[in-house]
Amino acid sequence: MSRKFIDCREFPGDTYCSVAISADSEDELIEIAVQHAISAHKHADSPELRSAIRSMMHDGMPPEHVMPPGASTGAAESAHRH
Ligand SMILES: [Zn+2]
Repeated sequence: MSRKFIDCREFPGDTYCSVAISADSEDELIEIAVQHAISAHKHADSPELRSAIRSMMHDGMPPEHVMPPGASTGAAESAHRH
């Protein structure tokens, strides 16, 4: 079983947050991420929140740096152009 993670730096929102959460199972990860979203970001627990969190889930371990979606500051992006 592969490790899964959610990186809060990817989460669209007004509060910058650099927390990354990793776990061995999707259910475990979602529960923790929901608790984090509620306590740190004042979200309400809802099916929409859970599906948003589920869509942010990745396999592996959190990278040291992430590029937020839509960011175009150059350097790191040139390695991943479409
Ligand atoms: Zn966060």
